[in-house]
Amino acid sequence: EIKDQKFVYDFTEGNKDLKDLLGGKGANLAEMTNLGLPVPPGFTITTEACKVYLDSGEEPAALRDEVSAHLDALEQRMGKKLGQSEDPLLVSVRSGAKFSMPGMMDTVLNIGLSDTSVEGLARQAGDERFAWDSYRRLIQMFGKTVLGVEGELFEDALDAAKEAKKVTVDTDLDAADLKKLVKQFKKIVKSETGRDFPQDPREQMDLAIKAVFDSWNGDRAKLYRRQERIPHDLGTAVNVCSMVFGNLGPDSGTGVAFTRDPASGHQGVYGDYLQNAQGEDVVAGIRNTVPLADLESIDKKSYDQLMQIMETLETHYKDLCDIEFTIERGRLWMLQTRVGKRTAGAAFRIATQLVDQGLIDEAEALQRVTGAQLAQLMFPRFDETARVEKLGRGIAASPGAAVGKAVFDSYTAVKWSRSGEKVILIRRETNPDDLDGMIAAEGILTSRGGKTSHAAVVARGMGKTCVCGAEELEVDTKRRRMTVNGTVVEEGDVVSIDGSTGKVYLGEVPVVPSPVVEYFEGRMHAGADDADELVQAVHRIMAYADRVRRLRVRANADNAEDALRARRFGAQGIGLCRTEHMFLGERREMVEKLILADTDDEREDALKALLPLQKKDFVELFEAMDGLPVTVRLLDPPLHEFLPDITELSVRVALAEARKDANENDLRLLQAVHRLHEQNPMLGLRGVRLGLVIPGLFTMQVRAIAEAAAERRNAKGDPRAEIMIPLVGTVQELEIVREEAEQVIAEVEAATGVDLRLALGTMIELPRAALTAGQIAEAAEFFSFGTNDLTQTVWGFSRDDVEASFFTAYLEKGIFGVSPFETIDKDGVGSLVRNAVAAGRATRPDLKLGVCGEHGGDPESVHFFHEVGLDYVSCSPFRIPVARLEAGRAAA
Ligand code: PEP
Ligand code: MG
Repeated sequence: EIKDQKFVYDFTEGNKDLKDLLGGKGANLAEMTNLGLPVPPGFTITTEACKVYLDSGEEPAALRDEVSAHLDALEQRMGKKLGQSEDPLLVSVRSGAKFSMPGMMDTVLNIGLSDTSVEGLARQAGDERFAWDSYRRLIQMFGKTVLGVEGELFEDALDAAKEAKKVTVDTDLDAADLKKLVKQFKKIVKSETGRDFPQDPREQMDLAIKAVFDSWNGDRAKLYRRQERIPHDLGTAVNVCSMVFGNLGPDSGTGVAFTRDPASGHQGVYGDYLQNAQGEDVVAGIRNTVPLADLESIDKKSYDQLMQIMETLETHYKDLCDIEFTIERGRLWMLQTRVGKRTAGAAFRIATQLVDQGLIDEAEALQRVTGAQLAQLMFPRFDETARVEKLGRGIAASPGAAVGKAVFDSYTAVKWSRSGEKVILIRRETNPDDLDGMIAAEGILTSRGGKTSHAAVVARGMGKTCVCGAEELEVDTKRRRMTVNGTVVEEGDVVSIDGSTGKVYLGEVPVVPSPVVEYFEGRMHAGADDADELVQAVHRIMAYADRVRRLRVRANADNAEDALRARRFGAQGIGLCRTEHMFLGERREMVEKLILADTDDEREDALKALLPLQKKDFVELFEAMDGLPVTVRLLDPPLHEFLPDITELSVRVALAEARKDANENDLRLLQAVHRLHEQNPMLGLRGVRLGLVIPGLFTMQVRAIAEAAAERRNAKGDPRAEIMIPLVGTVQELEIVREEAEQVIAEVEAATGVDLRLALGTMIELPRAALTAGQIAEAAEFFSFGTNDLTQTVWGFSRDDVEASFFTAYLEKGIFGVSPFETIDKDGVGSLVRNAVAAGRATRPDLKLGVCGEHGGDPESVHFFHEVGLDYVSCSPFRIPVARLEAGRAAA
């Protein structure tokens, strides 16, 4: 603990850039305060204080005094004392981490109320009902979030009170009812926790602060951080804010607002308002809200002021903001703002709209979108013309088209999805306990709550399809079914939900390609009059990205069709053509012949038969990629992959022998299978080793490449072939293969009279290759990092097994936040890449450097490859737009 460290900041002391220290909520409350907006006074306890507490189990020694000093100042300012019996100051205690995080303790309101101060509040407000309602809310929230009492106990008691009175809404309970309810709530606290509900206001506040700190390490919070890759050591800040009341009658209320529509990006009045209510009523979706536009007729003055504040905020933050506000007896208060979450489509639209408004420049626009969002926009959508029974319609809360079996609880969602079923989680409303189920589900459907309900907010954050507030649905969790206008949907029935339109269907709806893919495919033009707004925005953002990016983007493609699609998607060549894919199907038999060959003649015949087929493949590929580089990798996988499965073949041979009609070829095959069988085939006879051990194999491939290039050149084409040797571990291997290859190329050049200028290079996919990259570069004109094998060999993880085996446990234990096969492990694998780049370039300054492992299309990894100075990334055709965008974002 650093001496003189400051643990508490008044709202007037912070600003929006202090999110690390004050959390998102605290930093933005400070920013609004300093903008002169009406924020109820308060202070923020820093994430540093939380970290000290989490590390040592004790709050920092100085904290108590600092809180006291800030509380004193707050009391002075408000002219009231916390919990004082005549005219109590009440405060809210709210968590606020750097990143908004469901699963953490959220808010305790009305701290400072007790058996005595509730009377004072009633007199001051002139409203007994209000005071007792506030008190029962405090006990309920405090009981649940601070003392850990099961929330349902309070809800059941509340329901029972309403039932006894034969009313349906909370507001129909009067002061006497609420007084009784408070008594009951206190009893619940006592019997569940063994202690009385604390009457000392400062004790209430201190316990709530501690509970916020503790909630950082709650199970749901931890799970969410792993999902979202938020570091576990950030800690949360705590905001203590003087209370304003939205439940003081019809001239009070609370709401949420967006400065633009978070689903479309359009400017307008978006939000929800709830009269005579406190904030948690809106978020929980307990009572139905009215559209924000209705506030104009309810309270014109507050509405006008809110509109003006929204404009101030948008211009100030230069982005879509969301807002929580409360109106207390006609006076507007801002309780929170932040740069709002939005759908993927809205992110693109808003970024270009803000450029047009002159608020941000193109480089900034690139930072406002992500490759993950672009990938989301490339998902197919439902076919609107399909004849499928429409069940109902809710609010389009998070876009996408999801189909799955209906399940009505999180447990079943997780269980079914583990056994490979696609499920739609259907709930009346979700709460943080549903997080596991939401992660497991294809999509989420609720019958209650608006765009700001828990289900909607969390689903948008996860990029999951969500339809919420579909009120026609009667969800019966206990009987595991729902009824919609007379139709009963049982657990296991297939439903389809459209998060872009809010429509819910019974059965499976066929899907159609997204307009963004149609655009990339060239079937839709951004310039056309009827081009969709989204396509235009994507077109512009991609143009910015292409203008600034330094990394080139190539495709992993093995045939002309993929190559052509890759070209349409913006590929600047092929970074990896895996030739093994050319040896499958009917050609497998020829490969068998090659493997079974006993004599040089047999082997040469087999190779001769393969040559024209290989050549034809390459001619087509070079034609499709005319004018752009095509890296052809010589054969890589262990040969047994081309032979029948050992068990199957053994059985076949054994059965045939029993019938005494064993076939000669099968017997030879079986022998070969046994001979080639390896315990660790991935570390066995594969890659360059095949080229060195099987005479003529690599030279046949080199000849096919050279002859194909010559043919294309003679046809006035512009083939740019590069020959790549896989799995090299030492420069000697490469030198031998290189010498043979050069000889073949010289022969083809002599025979055709064409100067081929073929480049020869290698993959760097073994640790030894990376460690001796300086030597290897002597014999290589280019390197392509094979980060799949490199990850496999650096970690000692079998790339084919571990993800299904123990990675879940590793992810759960937080050993890594994401599989190293998905996002490059910067510290380990990445450091080898970084050093190999430097060593390779030291030997050969014009060495061309790329990557062709799966990481080449992963957003975070693309940034890393940019940073270490590669020339290009290569990825599957479908990922190319994502890689282009991320390469632009990395450079902007
Ligand atoms: C690699 O290892 O990263 C690579 C691209 O090659 P393959 O996936 O074919 O082994
Ligand atoms: Mg490899």
